[in-house]
Amino acid sequence: MPDIGSTANPLRVAIIGAGPAGFYTISNFLKYKELTVEMDLYDRLPTPYGLVRAGVAPDHQKDKSVTRAYAKSAEQPNVRFYGNVEYGKHLQLTDLQAHYHQVIFTNGAPTDRDLGIPGEDLQGSHSATDFVAWYNGHPDFADYQFDLSQESVAIVGVGNVAMDVARILCKSYAELAETDIADHALAALKNSQVKRVYLLGRRGPAQAAFTPPEIKEMGELAEAEVTVSADEARVDAISQQFLDANPDKNVEKNIGFITDYSQRVIMGKAKLLTLRFLVSPIEIIGEAGHVVALKLAKNAITAGKDGAIRPRPTGEEEVLEAGLVFRSVGYQGIPVSNVPFDAKQGTIRNVEGRVVDESGQPVTGLYTAGWIKRGPSGVIGTNKTCAQETVARMVEDIAAGNCFMPVAPGVDAASALVHERQPQTVSYADWLKIDAAEIQKGEAQQRPRVKFTRIKDMLAVLGD
Ligand code: NAP
Repeated sequence: MPDIGSTANPLRVAIIGAGPAGFYTISNFLKYKELTVEMDLYDRLPTPYGLVRAGVAPDHQKDKSVTRAYAKSAEQPNVRFYGNVEYGKHLQLTDLQAHYHQVIFTNGAPTDRDLGIPGEDLQGSHSATDFVAWYNGHPDFADYQFDLSQESVAIVGVGNVAMDVARILCKSYAELAETDIADHALAALKNSQVKRVYLLGRRGPAQAAFTPPEIKEMGELAEAEVTVSADEARVDAISQQFLDANPDKNVEKNIGFITDYSQRVIMGKAKLLTLRFLVSPIEIIGEAGHVVALKLAKNAITAGKDGAIRPRPTGEEEVLEAGLVFRSVGYQGIPVSNVPFDAKQGTIRNVEGRVVDESGQPVTGLYTAGWIKRGPSGVIGTNKTCAQETVARMVEDIAAGNCFMPVAPGVDAASALVHERQPQTVSYADWLKIDAAEIQKGEAQQRPRVKFTRIKDMLAVLGD
């Protein structure tokens, strides 16, 4: 048998999840010029690009331009896209073992973490990730409802997802109408009664998880202004000491913007965004089953023995009125069928991208990259180096002969199985037709695209 990865015996790789980590897996493999590799990229949706399509905010179109590089990978003759095909439903691990030498899971972190406080199940309490998926037109969320008749909204967490949610709630209809926000969200936000938005950080300004461009943008909105009390904008002594010892340009810039906002005079724009620091929600208060307020515990900053800066309750509490609450405290990975999972971390159990069992032993043929490998952190580009590491391990294992020994490694055999299991498989050429139809709908409205938010409408573009 010729070497795996030779022209006579190409390496066959199945990639599960067509988001950034999936595409960076392809581009990293393409760098190994001596290797002949055939890659099949699967996604449960008919559309590729994962969170670039369904997570990146619609008013941040520049961040979506990475899809041009992803398209180049998808167009390679040794790459196939199988959209609308779900691992665990249409294909099982045994199917993949019969057709591929290696399988890499790049399926991301689809759900969110909860706060573990009373009242989280009340009507009007949502995860930010649901709202993000809804306004970005993810088909699973097209029927979600958010009560935008409320005047006050609280967002728990001060990361970039919280900033996205706050910005979408604070932008004017005119600002949103030029984006590719889902039509259902644009219509709902047009009638929004939201006037006050609170962003709640449990630690201080020096520990905010958002990045400088995002906090800067908050001060530049057409119909909203941003404020923070001087008290909460102030950097405490412990954080200052930490910063002096560990200077960080991003943190300094964040503090600069926050200080500026604390000194701004409120002009009376239609919406007011208030940054709060050193407050932890301890209860979501309801009336007749609906959220009406949040009980907040006030915190002070403390340094742990390990040097970590943590919030410590002072014993003081307050009630903040809000009719809608979004928890934005991080995405969360969920278990993948027949793959070892670390429930505490919410990731596939792995070492440098090699899937390992509970005793730390590598599981032959299985790999992972992206958020399901390392947790929900970093920007889009972080997935490039993340996938690079895993692909390096995959190439090492192939050289050592550690892989599945598929009984049917041909491209056609896998394709036949996929189409038998899912007759409505969407190819890359099919996606290009869906893409063109969305862009065409957008042109009429001077928008980047108008998204299909239902799978049946995407498939209708492809006819019979
Ligand atoms: P994140 O950056 O991890 O922020 C999570 C926030 O939730 C932090 O402020 C954290 O505070 C807070 N938090 C966690 N547990 C909490 C609790 N029990 N009570 C109160 N607050 C709590 O997560 P994310 O905002 O979901 O973003 C995920 C990743 O995507 C990040 O790397 C982010 O930068 C990236 N992203 C980037 C962009 C962009 O570049 N524009 C846009 C969206 C997302 P502590 O720090 O105190 O834990």
